Amino acid sequence: MSTHQFFPYSNRFADLPSCFYTELKPDPLTGSRWVAWNSRLAEHFGLPNQATEEFRSLFSGECLPKEMRSLAMKYTGHQFGVYNPDLGDGRGLLLCEIYDENGEAHDVHLKGSGLTPYSRMGDGRAVLRSTVREYLCSEAMVGLGIPTTQALGMLTSDTVVYREKGEAGALLIRVAKSHIRFGHFEYLYYTDQFAELTLLADKVIDWYFPHCRQHEKPYLKMFEQIIERTAVMIAHWQAVGFAHGVMNSDNMSILGETFDYGPFGFLDEYDPNYICNHSDYQGRYAFEQQPRIALWNLSALAHALSPLIERDDLQQALSEYETVLGKKYSQLMRAKLGLTLSVPEDGPLFESMFDLLVANGVDYTNFMRALSNLDDENLDGNHSSERAKEVVTDLFVDREAARAWLDLYLVRCDIEVTADGEPISSSVRCESMRKVNPKFILRNYLAQVAIDRAEEGDYSEIGRLMGLLRAPFDEHAGMEAYAKPPPDWGKKMEISCSS
Ligand code: AMP
Ligand code: MG
Repeated sequence: MSTHQFFPYSNRFADLPSCFYTELKPDPLTGSRWVAWNSRLAEHFGLPNQATEEFRSLFSGECLPKEMRSLAMKYTGHQFGVYNPDLGDGRGLLLCEIYDENGEAHDVHLKGSGLTPYSRMGDGRAVLRSTVREYLCSEAMVGLGIPTTQALGMLTSDTVVYREKGEAGALLIRVAKSHIRFGHFEYLYYTDQFAELTLLADKVIDWYFPHCRQHEKPYLKMFEQIIERTAVMIAHWQAVGFAHGVMNSDNMSILGETFDYGPFGFLDEYDPNYICNHSDYQGRYAFEQQPRIALWNLSALAHALSPLIERDDLQQALSEYETVLGKKYSQLMRAKLGLTLSVPEDGPLFESMFDLLVANGVDYTNFMRALSNLDDENLDGNHSSERAKEVVTDLFVDREAARAWLDLYLVRCDIEVTADGEPISSSVRCESMRKVNPKFILRNYLAQVAIDRAEEGDYSEIGRLMGLLRAPFDEHAGMEAYAKPPPDWGKKMEISCSS
């Protein structure tokens, strides 16, 4: 471990053989300045709670200590189902690892730091709008309790970056437990570097899954861990209504963290076919496809691990994916509806709920939140106030069908009991539901408003959204407008990949 003027750091990845990366320095942006600094995250690392000039000059690459070995990592991967051997950090650098309050190492990665040998046709830069989106969304995911990379801060600059038009070059300081992707293993497998493949698996076990070492088949155990974490992440995405948009295997973290935010979107209306990525013509990464695609990516990883793990073991491990995903998804959805017992009628109850949401184009987040507000207001026992029920039915075109479903649901809630067999009151149920059904999500239109302002130099909306997204289950009196479904211009926004 080395010590920078401000914090201790290391870079274990730099100790791997040189085929794993290209070592190079960032190309600093011109006139870089802070857009935001994540004081909540900074605190975990003992860093200052204000953006400082010293940190700007460090993270912008202007004043990097000589011994800090910044690396463009080499990886490959399957993009839209097709193997691409020419990937790697094309606009990012792994800067170092820093240590949180528990002594756990986290990678610091600069996104938008200039050209690398893997830039292909790109310019090595990131624009402000995509940087703001990643910054906000990773914080939203933390607030929602979903595994994710995080962002320590972002810079904008006078460097002009050309996309459809000239835009400000920006830089995101990304923090993640690991930047190792499925694609790192694919790279070593497809280039026949089997000793290095083994080395990478050993390092992944040492760094992230040390308990696997005790197992008689450590590599298999490691793969099982990756499967489990991926399944849990996907269950969270499906339960909250998050579409990633570019689930290529180079965008899949081996630690099951939501990784590489691009054209993502949260569902407004519940639409299983929602495609957030403007370039996804076939809907490969549509919302409903995500569980299947994650399995496809895990199968691609299995193939890359085949020199280390027997075929039958790989198959057996993959066959557990759906079980883990199903179990986690069911647990999350049951919590969202406030159901702890399991009865045979629950299946049809969920099915009819989703059918109704789709048929009526109902806002998913607002529906779940309205169900969480059915506390008794009249004192007659088990029946929530008429007004609270109307808030639910008002979300539907077919109010009668909605009311019929709601009545069924409330009858179902009545059979809920505590561990001691006592009936669970609606207020207890609703209180727990409000802890898992967010009032605020990062709707694309909200991000767009913050981006439009940021492009004019006003960063206040980013701060406002961060406050809401960090605590999305709280009421935040006076901020009702931020919980509303999108206005017409902000509906079904598709975001391009040109970021
Ligand atoms: P992404 O779609 O962001 O996951 O990127 C896929 C690949 O393209 C990765 O290898 C990126 O590093 C690379 N890439 C994306 N944008 C740029 C850019 N502006 N300049 C260089 N490389 C890029
Ligand atoms: Mg990527």
